Amino acid sequence: MELFGITCGELADQLAQRYGRGLHHAAAVYRGAFQKGCTRFGEAPEFARSPELARRIAADLRLPACRIVATREVGGVLKFATALGDGRIIESVVIPAAGRTTLCVSSQVGCRMGCRFCATGAMGFGRNLSPAEIVWQAWAARFVLAARVDNVVFMGMGEPLDNFDHVAQALRVMGDQRGLDIAPRRITLSSAGHADGIRRLACLGLPNLRLAVSLNAADDRLRSRLMPINRRYPLARLKAALQAFATGRGGVVLVEYVLLAGVNDARQDAAKLAAYLTGLAVRVNLIAYNGEGASGFAAPPPAHVERFCRWLADEGVFFCRRRPRGRDILAACGQLGASLTTR
Ligand code: SF4
Repeated sequence: MELFGITCGELADQLAQRYGRGLHHAAAVYRGAFQKGCTRFGEAPEFARSPELARRIAADLRLPACRIVATREVGGVLKFATALGDGRIIESVVIPAAGRTTLCVSSQVGCRMGCRFCATGAMGFGRNLSPAEIVWQAWAARFVLAARVDNVVFMGMGEPLDNFDHVAQALRVMGDQRGLDIAPRRITLSSAGHADGIRRLACLGLPNLRLAVSLNAADDRLRSRLMPINRRYPLARLKAALQAFATGRGGVVLVEYVLLAGVNDARQDAAKLAAYLTGLAVRVNLIAYNGEGASGFAAPPPAHVERFCRWLADEGVFFCRRRPRGRDILAACGQLGASLTTR
């Protein structure tokens, strides 16, 4: 039984099958692990009269073989690297903001999407994370690093919709009210534009789950150059998936646009973006490229960012200029690589 990869209800089912015990004991294990950070659940009062049962369950439960191997904090933003059981490294970031703390998690080791501006994309694909390895990042942020985790964003290493089933299960586990209790409305999945995954996501039965799509260009030629996934899911197909996703949801879909100097920051790029967004209930997050890494792209000068903002406003686009708070430690979107452990 992989404790970090199953919901409390699923654990109860397993306890019923194996030991004839159910939700009472499952909830004790679950509360101990996910609300107190204690994996010595045999100490829970529910097991006081059945230490042998506690011992047998402990022997059957597997915890993720993950450990934090490096941390780096700049300006309150904390990046941490985790060594997985097979020695591979993933990264996560704790980002405090006014009144809330957001955890950025990884969903894969590396990524196969190959976005040209992305440090993770340059690493290539290693493997998918299991649901337990995804959930462990939230658990570790809370109970190893003592950070609040109010919100979770899947903006770390990997394309979450390319690891759909494991990410979907991780959402269920993170959202379990007897455990970490991170509701879907406090979770944002960020995708490079995996249209099929977006359609599947819409059918998951999580109406408040938030979706962000990394767009970065509203022109198929340019977007295919920047983000090869666009060849598989061109802009028209992506737009149809976004329209289907937004239907019946109160929430707004976020569109991330990373400004790359001299690449997608011209007047015509703003006009194309405005035209593409027509008919979509979206809010644009405008992010200046963080300008580090070996991608060959450059950060736009602040004046060019201002100019692009004015153009978007002229076009009537509802946007928000986001400051990449993790800029100093490569924690902005698409900038997670193995930098912590290679420095
Ligand atoms: S930006 Fe996201 S989807 Fe693209 S290569 Fe990087 S991690 Fe993968």
